[in-house]
Parts: sequence; C-alpha cells; structure tokens
Amino acid sequence: MSKTVGFEKVNNLGVVTINNPPVNAINQQVRLGLEQIFSKEQPEVSAIVLCCTGKTFCSGADIKEFDNPIEDPSYQHVFKLIENYKIPVIAVMHGTVLGAGLELALACHYRCALDRTRLGLPEISLGIIPGAGGTQRLPRIIGAKAALEFIFGIKPIVASDALDLNLLDEVIYSDTPSGGLEYASSLVEREVPIRRTADIAVDATGFSEEFINDARKRVEKVARGQHAPDLVIQSIKNAISMSFEEGIKAEKQIGEKSLVSDEAKALRHIFFAERKVSQVPGASPSGEIIDIDNVGIIGSGTMGGGIAMNFLNIGVPVTIVDVSESALDKGIDVISRNYQISVDRGRVSKSQMEERMGLIKKSTLYESISQCDLVIEAVFEDIELKKTIFHNLDKLCKPDSILATNTSTLDVDEIAASTNRPEKVLGLHFFSPANVMKLLEIVRGNKTSPETLASGLNLAKKIKKVGVVAGVCFGFIGNRMMIEGFHREADHLLLEGASPSQIDRVMYEFGFPMGPFAMHDMAGVDIMHSILSAEDKKKQYPEPFFNVLYQVGESGRFGQKTGKGFYLYEKGSRSPIHDPIIDKLIENESNKLGIERREVKDSEIEERCMYALINEGARILEEEISYRSSDIDVIWNYGYGFPRLRGGPMYMADKIGLSNIHATILNYKKEYGDNWEPAKLLTELAGVNGSFSDWSPG
Ligand code: NAD
Repeated sequence: MSKTVGFEKVNNLGVVTINNPPVNAINQQVRLGLEQIFSKEQPEVSAIVLCCTGKTFCSGADIKEFDNPIEDPSYQHVFKLIENYKIPVIAVMHGTVLGAGLELALACHYRCALDRTRLGLPEISLGIIPGAGGTQRLPRIIGAKAALEFIFGIKPIVASDALDLNLLDEVIYSDTPSGGLEYASSLVEREVPIRRTADIAVDATGFSEEFINDARKRVEKVARGQHAPDLVIQSIKNAISMSFEEGIKAEKQIGEKSLVSDEAKALRHIFFAERKVSQVPGASPSGEIIDIDNVGIIGSGTMGGGIAMNFLNIGVPVTIVDVSESALDKGIDVISRNYQISVDRGRVSKSQMEERMGLIKKSTLYESISQCDLVIEAVFEDIELKKTIFHNLDKLCKPDSILATNTSTLDVDEIAASTNRPEKVLGLHFFSPANVMKLLEIVRGNKTSPETLASGLNLAKKIKKVGVVAGVCFGFIGNRMMIEGFHREADHLLLEGASPSQIDRVMYEFGFPMGPFAMHDMAGVDIMHSILSAEDKKKQYPEPFFNVLYQVGESGRFGQKTGKGFYLYEKGSRSPIHDPIIDKLIENESNKLGIERREVKDSEIEERCMYALINEGARILEEEISYRSSDIDVIWNYGYGFPRLRGGPMYMADKIGLSNIHATILNYKKEYGDNWEPAKLLTELAGVNGSFSDWSPG
C-alpha cells in the first residue's frame, strides 16, 4: 500500500486519503497510489470518499515535474480509472483546490467541499492550460460559457459560488473533511447513480464568437501577450465538437505543447523565484522574530497613507504622525476615500471599513509612537531630515522598537548611524500605491541584525507582500537598475533622435504597462529631478546623464499633476498628448551637446534599454546587493511591471546568452562611451559560457 495514498473502511464507505505534505500536490507518487486503489474493486464498500489530510485538498500538480515529460501513470489514465469506477466516488474538498487538484475532483462522480474551500483553475498564470481533463470535464459540468469564464477568471472562487455554478453538489459546514462522510453516506442511502462526467453533453449555450472575443479581450488585461488563453478556447471548442475521448486526446497534446513553451518556462521561473525570496542567508536565526502588534508611521503623504492601509487591513493599529493637523487630516481623508472605493466595488463591507478606520490614531507628537513595535518613516526624500527623525526616534522609542525608513534611494546605513540601535534599523521600501503594489524591498543595512531582517521578511508575508532583500546602495535593486540602467539609456536615446512616444510605445509593446516617460509623468518628474539635483549625484553623473529629464523638471513640468511633463494632459485626463515644446527642448539639448540626431530604430531602443538594465543588474549581483538573479527578476515583475512572460531581466539575459549580450555591450561602448562598460560579472560569465541563474557569490 502506498504511503502517500491511504485506504480505510469506515462503515460502508471506503475512504481514500491523500497525504502528500505540505499542500498535497499531485506528483507521480500520488498518481501511483490512486492507480493502485482505483485499479481494484473494493467489494466491501458501497462508495468511495476521496479526501486529503493536512491543510488542503490537492492544491494542484507538482510543478517541479513540468520540466520533464510527465512520468506514468498519466493524469488522464488515473482520472479515467476514477471516472469509470463501478461505485460512486465522492470528492470531499477543503482548503485551496487548484489546477490538477480540481481536475481530480471533476473526474469524481460527486463533489462537496467545506464552506471555506476555494476552487480554481489558474493554469493560464503559468502559461499552460488545465490539461488534466479540465477543459473537457468542466464544460460538461458547468457549461462551456461558464467554464471559459472560470478558467479566464484565474482567481479561485469560494465554495458557495461553486455551488451556484453547479461545480459542487454540496457545501459542508464542518471544520474537517470527515464532515463530508455524512454527506457521502446520505448519497449511499439515496442509492444515487454513478454520474460520469464524460457522459454529460456539453451545454454550449451562449458560447458564441462574440462572447469568446469579449472574454479574450478581458483576459488580455491579466495575461497580456500570452498564448495560453487561445489554447484554452481551442480546447473548449474541441469539447463541444469532439467526443470526450477525442477531446481528452487533443487536450493532452495541446497541454504538453504548452508546458514546454517559452511563455510557460518563463512563468514557471517567476513562480519558483517568488518562493525563493525568503531564503536569505542569516535571516532565520535561532533568535526570535519580533511580533508587530502596533505600528507608527511618520508622514501621512502618498506613501504613509498607503503603508498604513496594509496594517489596518490585517487589524494592526496604526498611529500616524505628521507636522500639522491639516496634513494629518488630508492623509487620513485619502485613506478613507480609498476604503470607500473598495466598499463601492463590493470588496470591503461598510463595517469592515469602519473597523479599519477605527484603528487609526493621529498625532503631531513623536511621543505618541514611543511604544510602537515598528515605526516606518515616510517623510520627504531628504537625508538630513530623515537622520534628525531617526535620532529623535531612537531617544523616544522603547528599546526593542524596529525603526524602518521608506526611502527610495538614500543610504540606510547613514540613517541607521544617527541612532544608537543600528541593528534595529532597516529599509522597508514600499512601492506606490503602497496599499496595492505587491513588492516590498527590504533593505538590509550593514548593521541590521538577523532578527530585525527576519522580522521584516515575516512582516512582508503578514501584509501579503513579496518581500525581497536588498543591500545598501543608491536606489537599492529596483530603482538603481531603473535609473542607472534603463531610464538613463532611454533619456540618451532622446538626445540621439528618438521621441518620448516612440520609446514609450516600444517598451509598451515589449510588455511593460507603460514606457519610461509616461511613468515619469505619472510618478512626478519632480521626484527624479530632485534626485538629480543633489550635489553628489551631479558629480557622480555628469552630462549627458538624464539631460532631458533634468531640463523637463527645471521647466516646472512635473507630469500629470501639473498637466504637463513629457506630454500634455487635459484636465482630469491621464491620456498623454504630444507636445511640440518637448520636441524643441530635446533638440536644444542634442545641439548643446553636439549630438547629431538620426532616426533610431525600434529594435535598437528595445535592445539598448534592456541591455543597460541587465548590465546594471549584473553589477548589483557582483556587488552582492542582491543574493540571486531570480530576486532581481521578482523585483522587476512586481515593482516595475516587467512582462512576466519574459521571466525577468536576468532570466531573459540567460536566454539570450551572456556572451551575445557582452559582445553587443562592447560594441555600444565603442560607439557611446564608458556608460557601456560591461559589468565585471557579465564579462566573467560570458567568458565561461555561464549564466546568472547558476552563479552564486564565491
Ligand atoms: P509626500 O510628500 O507625499 O509625503 C511626505 C509627508 O511627510 C507629508 O505629509 C509631510 O507633511 C510629512 N512630513 C515632512 N516632514 C515631516 C516631519 N518632520 N515629521 C512628520 N511628518 C513630516 O511624500 P511621499 O511620496 O509619500 O514620499 C515619502 C517617502 O517615500 C520618500 O522618502 C520617498 O522617496 C519614498 N517613496 C516614495 C514613492 C512614491 O512613489 N511617492 C515610492 C517609494 C518610496
């Protein structure tokens, strides 16, 4: 008998229990165990209950098996054994039932779930189709139209909604799957027939070309440029036009092809990269993690308010400090308005909103946050101001308070040095809007203690962010690569003859949600302008570093908020309009610097922007600002909208080949100067045919 799949007799029921911790992913062992049981008749029982131990029913297929051909027994074979079983098979689900886990349940004759169960087929997010019968059985159970909507919806739905869809036969109000046994017994008592999904005809009502096109357009918003949605449509069409056997065969072929596509490989890379980010050397010491039961936030501006919402959402009280009552009221009003939008959209109830707003305290006195477990500073980007604040916090706050800064570029070590507790200081770099963006860059100062770092990582999980650790340098991982790589090059391309709209279009077509200049206009050109205006930056980056952006900022064009930046904006609109004044400004800069303007090809724009980004990423790795190249990919996915289907800049570089990139960068150096000095690590790896993903610091 398999250790992973058990069988026991409970009265007249045979209970098959899958036990494959931590999330009962279906791998070869699980398939073998199921095959063993369902190949035999169980004469002493009247029905089989299929359930799982632990926190969830099968959460999906074991993705680690996807890189090689799936070994026997196949999903199709095992699920067919279950479907053809001679007595009723009843799936009793709990937890989060995804992908192949749900497809297993679809092959059963009856399906029930505990009331808090969530069910979904999120395969598209991995660039594949529900290829273990999902596209054939789901349309038979809930209809083709609802099946397409369910698969394109990606996010799991709750049990009560699944019941309404007919995906479930019963919702069980119990804390354990054993609650499902009663339901199974009642089916036996009623002598229900065996109900094979394969025998059900597909209801194709409403599955019109118009509906399909609309659905395809909608899914494009979350799966831009991906092919998997088209494969799902094809497969559901097959379910309608083919016999079940033919449809399953075709689905297997389509599924296997999708598994080895570049899109699926890149999306798998990001999936695993995200799971690796919390493996940080020295961050899970024997020492304890400090529990954060209350938070102080300094600054109630754009970032302070958004950061506060993360804690309010999980029931942690927040005290916000700002310089004046009016600044506080303004900040809290923004929080309230954001919650009201969530209430209007039905995401949060009115009472939840009131509860969360009730957790806010406001004050103009730092003393009010002296007992907080964590204080996050989010005032203007000014090192002297931040140092003064940390000096004062250190004196006022209880000894074990963690002090964090939300600076986007400044030296966390210098800020920590203004306290007598540098081991308790770290950077918590949230991205704007801080209540929405999933990324949290956790900046480890040279004196940040392992406990403080581990507490930061733990905190990220609690507030449902992806926390990636970075070392101290200007801009950390994300902003440094953006400023010193990508956007620097984009600015230079303007001087050579490209226009903001051409560059923005090329980067949009590459897969970014917007190009660099639309982004500057959205974030505020003044932010970068003030960074570039700092004396040390001027010395560090002489002309033509960001010449155009600097001039746009100098002219007071701060972007959307002032109605003009790189583009013009009509009142109340965020749509960029071409402005000839900017063409003139750019031309003047080119002339001033003696740069002859020319036509710049789209392909050159893409290559130069991305290679500059990769080169800076290589420097960040060699300086050990990032622990691994996949962390950089996660940062670029979650913080900057790098297209997921390309896996991330460092993954993309490995695919292109580092020696190719190195050779191109050397050519650029000849043409455009020392900005294009290849990173030492890039040179080293290119020389040995290496890759960023295999490299680790010596
Ligand atoms: P903001 O101008 O919107 O808000 C700053 C707030 O700090 C204001 O309400 C101001 O009154 C308050 N403040 C100033 N001095 C203070 C003091 N001594 N004590 C208490 N409050 C004080 O700024 P923001 O955009 O929220 O940025 C805050 C920080 O977050 C900066 O370090 C910035 O670099 C960083 N950051 C910003 C973004 C972004 O996109 N805006 C993204 C990531 C990080």
